Amino acid sequence: MKPFVHVPLPTRVIFGRGRIAEAATEARRLGMARPMVVATPHQAASCEELARAVGGTAYPYAVMHTPVDVTEKAVAFVLENGIDGIVSLGGGSSTGLGKAIALRTDFNQLVIPTSYAGSEMTDILGETEGGLKTTRRDARIQPEAVIYDPDLLTTLPDAFAMTSGLNAIAHAVEGLFATDGNPIVSLMAEEGIRALAAALPKGHAGHDDALYGAWLCGSVLGSAAMALHHKLCHVLAGSFNLPHAETHAIVLPHATAYNATSAPEAMGRIARALGVKDAVDGLHSLSKAIGAPVALKNIGMPEDGLDKAADIAVSSPYPNPRPLERAAIRTLLHNAYHGLPAD
Ligand code: NAD
Repeated sequence: MKPFVHVPLPTRVIFGRGRIAEAATEARRLGMARPMVVATPHQAASCEELARAVGGTAYPYAVMHTPVDVTEKAVAFVLENGIDGIVSLGGGSSTGLGKAIALRTDFNQLVIPTSYAGSEMTDILGETEGGLKTTRRDARIQPEAVIYDPDLLTTLPDAFAMTSGLNAIAHAVEGLFATDGNPIVSLMAEEGIRALAAALPKGHAGHDDALYGAWLCGSVLGSAAMALHHKLCHVLAGSFNLPHAETHAIVLPHATAYNATSAPEAMGRIARALGVKDAVDGLHSLSKAIGAPVALKNIGMPEDGLDKAADIAVSSPYPNPRPLERAAIRTLLHNAYHGLPAD
């Protein structure tokens, strides 16, 4: 066995249907007397309802990719209104705004996820400014508590549920590629992929298992360094304002194929979790079975941006099983743009 380091995540996790009812108790446990509930405008009604339940203030102004100007307005609001803690309700965009506020104020965070993004289990914050997405890790970013309530997924649109699930699977796939992975991370990753791949095609009937899988995959993201797949998705989503989950869903089989020959053990685990012989074929088949998008050109990517994306992806070094080769990455982007099979 290879030597390893494992640091358990400090986040308290509460899981189960109906457990959003414990939000007020959890907020009090974290010492919040005047919490602010953040969400996107789309979930404003649920945000208001939760704010009433926890005795706090609703702030439904989160925006995808956590633009810094949106955060600065929220921090000003927090300071003017005597807020002392953050409750985030929603997908990764709500969690992102909550984390960005916590980074600047050191407030405690209670996160109540309603998608499979997994951000609630990580100390990672990606922020955008001037068309560039930068990512950092900091202990203040890690949420103190999370309530996973599968009942909250009933309003999740089917198409978004599928791409969000593939986004979660991508965290686990990269955790298996990570140079700083360990046996616990690998177990969580394999079980997370298995649970999500089995649950997503079941639609509403699979919500409990899919959310369980998303928790595991988010925990992998919080415990191991990410590689080419996440780098490419950050570049594409941050620089070209593409939707996060769809971008991950499209890039995943391509980035996995890129690393295939350099990470045979990871490929074996992914295949086993998907119940197939070949990991890349399995990821393609899963995407097809759940009707996920397969071409970047259909989600707003400009073709003349592919060179810039390849340049940024190789501009700073990061660990990846296969060395970063600009020509091969440009081909990968070409294939993902046109929806061609992964090569
Ligand atoms: P999102 O949070 O932007 O959600 C997309 C839309 O779906 C929003 O309008 C949202 O309100 C709505 N929605 C979410 N859950 C819903 C539900 N149950 N019912 C009805 N509507 C619902 O998208 P996302 O993919 O969850 O998150 C993407 C963002 O999260 C990106 O900015 C990404 O960078 C970030 N992220 C960060 C990390 C991290 O560790 N830092 C990890 C994953 C994602």
